Amino acid sequence: MEENVKYKQIFQYTYPISGEQPKKEFLGSAQNRQCIFCKRGKSETSFKKDAHIEPAALGNRSLFNYNECDNCNEKIFSKYENDLLNYLQLERILIRGKPRNGSPKYRPINSKSFITSTPGTNQVTFL
Ligand SMILES: [Zn+2]
Repeated sequence: MEENVKYKQIFQYTYPISGEQPKKEFLGSAQNRQCIFCKRGKSETSFKKDAHIEPAALGNRSLFNYNECDNCNEKIFSKYENDLLNYLQLERILIRGKPRNGSPKYRPINSKSFITSTPGTNQVTFL
C-alpha cells in the first residue's frame, strides 16, 4: 500500500467553521513567487490577490497560498470552486459554516421551499 502513495503531507492546519479565526498564514514563498499550477513567475503574471488554499465559502478565512497566481485563481479555478460549492451546498448548510455573505441556502429548481442555517448557531431551517 505504501508504495502507491504519490503525495505527501506538507502542512496541517485546522480552522474553525465559525467564530474567531486564527491569524492569516501563507504557504510558499513571498519573495520567490511562482505559480504552482501554470509555473509562471512574477514577471509573467500577477500575485495581487490572496489565494485561499481551501475556498472561503467552506470556512477558510486564514490559510492562503503565495504560489497561486491571480489568473489561475480567478479565471481557471473559480469555475471549479463554484461547482464544488454547489455540490456541497447541503453539507455547508448542515455544518452551519459561515459563508462569505449571509447564510447558505439550498433551493431545488422551481421550488418555493428551501433549507438554510444560521452560522454560529445550531439552527437549521426548512421552509
Ligand atoms: Zn498560475
